[in-house]
Amino acid sequence: MSIIDSRFIIKQGYMVKRSQNKRVYTLVNFKKRWFVLTRRHLIYYDDENEAKRKEKGRVDLDRVHTIEAAERFFSNEEVGIEGDFYPFLVSYHHDEDYTLFLLALRDFDRIYWILAIRNVCAHNANVRSYFHPAPWNGRKWTCCKNNTKLTDGCRECDGWLSSQESSPSKDSFKENLSNKENCNSTQSSPIMPGGGTPGTPSAKQKDKQSTPRQKVVVALYNYKAIETGDLSLEKNMEYEVIDDSQEHWWKVRDSKGNIGFIPSNYVKEKELLGLQQYEWYVNDMSRQRSESLLKHEDKEGCFVVRNSSTKGLYTLSLYTKVPHPHVKHYHIKQNSRGEFFLSEKHCCNSIPELINYHKHNSGGLASRLKTSPCDRPAPATAGLSHDKWEIDHNELMLLEELGSGQFGVVRRGKWRGTKDVAVKMMKEGTMSEDDFIEEAKVMTKLQHPNLVQLYGVCSKNRPIFIVTEYMRHGSLLNYLRKNEQSLCTNQGLLLDMCIQICKGMAYLEKQNCIHRDLAARNCLVGTENIVKVADFGLARYVLDDQYTSSGGSKFPIKWAPPEVLNYTRFSSKSDIWAYGVLMWEVFTCGKMPYGRLKNSEVVDRVQKGIILEKPKACFKEVYDVMKKCWSHLPENRPSFQLLKGTLIKVSQGILVD
Ligand code: ADP
Repeated sequence: MSIIDSRFIIKQGYMVKRSQNKRVYTLVNFKKRWFVLTRRHLIYYDDENEAKRKEKGRVDLDRVHTIEAAERFFSNEEVGIEGDFYPFLVSYHHDEDYTLFLLALRDFDRIYWILAIRNVCAHNANVRSYFHPAPWNGRKWTCCKNNTKLTDGCRECDGWLSSQESSPSKDSFKENLSNKENCNSTQSSPIMPGGGTPGTPSAKQKDKQSTPRQKVVVALYNYKAIETGDLSLEKNMEYEVIDDSQEHWWKVRDSKGNIGFIPSNYVKEKELLGLQQYEWYVNDMSRQRSESLLKHEDKEGCFVVRNSSTKGLYTLSLYTKVPHPHVKHYHIKQNSRGEFFLSEKHCCNSIPELINYHKHNSGGLASRLKTSPCDRPAPATAGLSHDKWEIDHNELMLLEELGSGQFGVVRRGKWRGTKDVAVKMMKEGTMSEDDFIEEAKVMTKLQHPNLVQLYGVCSKNRPIFIVTEYMRHGSLLNYLRKNEQSLCTNQGLLLDMCIQICKGMAYLEKQNCIHRDLAARNCLVGTENIVKVADFGLARYVLDDQYTSSGGSKFPIKWAPPEVLNYTRFSSKSDIWAYGVLMWEVFTCGKMPYGRLKNSEVVDRVQKGIILEKPKACFKEVYDVMKKCWSHLPENRPSFQLLKGTLIKVSQGILVD
């Protein structure tokens, strides 16, 4: 018998499990089991009743690499149940590959099990792209009939969705509550944070089931169309999607019948809206950033709800001035009925209901919930308009100088009088312009919350302008140096900065884009302590030998691994080395790596395997991560995807959420 604290249970319910047949000679069987999902394990028991039940097995979720809907490869007779069932699989690697085939008893339950497990495994590094949707029968794969067991999967994975952002709409909540009365397995259809149970079709949807479903999205931000062909968005309004074949710009129709392009990251599918429709929900903002935001607002009772660092859970962060100004963090817990609560005395069916309750009653909190920060910044768009990367000089108003660097002066600007941008005015002769202009078309399409967005270029006149997202606090290096006093006592904030950069780099790595010059000077800081990576890939177009050759005076030697120093061999793994040095810069609040050592002395040290010392204000666990980045051989260094998971775990281990 094992008792799991209900606070750690993310989802539970009955499913039928196919035997895994780890030993070849046992017969395949199907058994009904009670499954419990926590943030570390998927555990199955022989009985729902906690007092009686015996654990029959568990999967370590760290090891999971595939979670996909499966084929219905066996009959009702084989399974031994009547009625429909919905198979899915969870594959993991533990010395060798194993697959758990599970049958949910309802379609929506399968969807939610898949989303819930993917959500817990969102940071796993070993995620696969292909899988076999039916089992190996001892001689061949049931799905593709291939008779090599260790072959790649025959079907492409549907993708690793983040179910934290995928809960059903508020509208379906009431319907689901009434549906629940007819539902004999309420435990297996948990209440979701935004209210509602998993994907039960609404009456309207049921009518539509035979015709293709119309995709309706809701605007998360206002957006002002400037270019003809674009459409303005009004926050909280609904739009019908006409064409979503391009990643970043979708064609939609508004309620008045106007049609045009909108940035896809400004909207969310209505059915997946979940908590995102609420002002107070800030998604995966870290504890440290939520504290800065609330302290900056400086209002009693100001609060946000954010994803907890424990996957699948949520945290309420609340600012109070009593007895002195500070931020309190409360985990939003769920009881065994799936209800949400902050104090056990008051449980609600959804987080919005819970928030509403505590707006009227402090109910044990440091203060009643009053306001939440408004006017939060909208994200950057991929380009300034649909399919636009060439920007007209005349539409740019140039304002104050922000700094100057390798390529020339950078100035703040306004595009068409309204949109803040940064304009890099490229000194003539510093870069191979035609090549870069070609590349810029592709680079405008790279979009991530931790990358400085490239909006486009002005290439018709000289000098060329590179137009990017404007970042209010300028370079990370200066920011660290300027704010050393407040930052160096806040390791959580420093680690959070590193995690943000790692997320941006993991995205670049996935896009096969190598930065080549990752360093604190090439990251920028925006509002709400957001840190973004800038200048990715630009180094390839620099013409200056002093910058491009490893013997040159401007070459970033102190950020370069041995294979770059020896053979100028750049890769995502050389970016990882530079990332380790960047972490060191962050944790020393902007010190120069290797102090005053000359470049030749640095090369000498790196070749001998002497690495940078542990910064004073730095946990051992954090320094261990840096050391992994400085493995002599590139293949021994982790990927950014892996590093991201490690850093998040380190932050969970050493910091309270
Ligand atoms: P270069 O690439 O030519 O070396 P940088 O990109 O380093 O130039 O920019 C020089 C300085 O200009 C930075 O240190 C920073 O202070 C400022 N800067 C550059 N880009 C931006 C931006 N997008 N937003 C705000 N400030 C910026």
